[in-house]
Amino acid sequence: DRHVVIVGASLAGIRTAQNLRTLGRSGAITLIGAEAELPYDRPPLSKDLLKSDWSAESIEAFRLVTASELGELDLDLRLGMAATGLDTTARVVALADGTSIAYDVLVIATGATARPSPWRPESGVLQLRTLDDSRAIAQRLTPGERIVVVGGGFIGTEIAAAAVGFGCDVTVVDPVPEPMARLVGPELASSLVRLHSENGVQTRFGVGVVDIRGAAGDLTVVLDDGAELAASTAVVGIGSIPATGWLADSGLTLENGVVTDPGLRALGAQDVYAIGDVARWPHAGRGLIRAEHWTNASDQARFVAAAIAQGIDAEYSSTDYVWSDQYDWKIHTVGWRDPAGASVVVGDLAVDGRVAVVHADASGRACGAVTVNWVRALNQIRRLLMTDSPPAVIAEQLEQLVQRAA
Ligand code: FAD
Repeated sequence: DRHVVIVGASLAGIRTAQNLRTLGRSGAITLIGAEAELPYDRPPLSKDLLKSDWSAESIEAFRLVTASELGELDLDLRLGMAATGLDTTARVVALADGTSIAYDVLVIATGATARPSPWRPESGVLQLRTLDDSRAIAQRLTPGERIVVVGGGFIGTEIAAAAVGFGCDVTVVDPVPEPMARLVGPELASSLVRLHSENGVQTRFGVGVVDIRGAAGDLTVVLDDGAELAASTAVVGIGSIPATGWLADSGLTLENGVVTDPGLRALGAQDVYAIGDVARWPHAGRGLIRAEHWTNASDQARFVAAAIAQGIDAEYSSTDYVWSDQYDWKIHTVGWRDPAGASVVVGDLAVDGRVAVVHADASGRACGAVTVNWVRALNQIRRLLMTDSPPAVIAEQLEQLVQRAA
């Protein structure tokens, strides 16, 4: 069997190794990961883990693989070891300790890193991507702490929700006037803002941060409308950038990620795949995208493992599924939203505590939906999306679902 080398030992990387073994691949697999940690799951870093006691047991619950499962996978595991270069002609990956490792098939799964904060006070600016980052934030979440969260995306708003739960004084700042529309669409954005404010989160939307001065415990966050916010800690969550630095001289096509063909093969080399947050691949409905979501990383790992183990030559098609938890809202999105299309709202969040918004593309075909606290509707929509139903038909079926439940 050819030697499979996987770079990146998080969700996409470990799932590739697991799927290869499940599919009967018995040859050598090397898994290289920069973090010295056994693979762990990232979604809990901004949710359950922030509220946990950080005991060894509570951390273990979020591992992607147990030590004994790892043993059975029989991998050549190199944790705490970054890949530093790739030569696709010699088929060799260079490692941080100066050694190198030859591959027959390479899977790039190096994910992304938090987009660095442009504001660099002496200390007190935290960001969130790793277990250590989450621990550092959790340590600051004590009653009365003044936390300014810069960035109203999923991660920033989840941190804000956790922080008010600890009795912190929390303000979320975002230069976009309606940042929560990016998460749940314009139909539900104001309800989500209200949910945050009812829970005590203050928001300053439509104003940018100019500077953060001072040091931990005594920061001043300067806004572009002249306001100054005092904070003990600032958490900057302004997106992420793909971890492609080590590939700079590889000859692969790097444009906001490793660009691939529809089969997730990296452009510019043979037998090299890219998956998960680092991959930029041609989505059937949306063109080249980087999908920074859990299900995508896990699905792409399964797809590429099948391509390698069984020689399946197919085009990856995405399930496009994302979730977020904020207070008692369980938000799920499936498919995508076409800015040129219309949307239909089913249900009333204020009355029923649940809602679905179904999106159409420019041609009137349903292309996605967002639901809050309504998993049955979500599952039904997922099925109907596969049948190319128009949103009105989907809405009608959801109404019937409501009536049957009543
Ligand atoms: P990553 O998880 O980024 O892992 C990449 C790994 O590669 C890292 O361990 C990194 O250290 C390693 N690496 C990088 N460079 C090198 C190198 N040169 N050599 C060796 N190793 C290297 N998604 C959802 O769908 N729902 C959620 O609610 C959700 N919540 C999230 C909350 C947080 C705080 C974060 C950070 C992410 C969240 N996500 C969520 C996104 C989800 O976690 C990612 O999509 C997923 O982790 C992607 O997996 P990955 O393996 O591609 O990349």
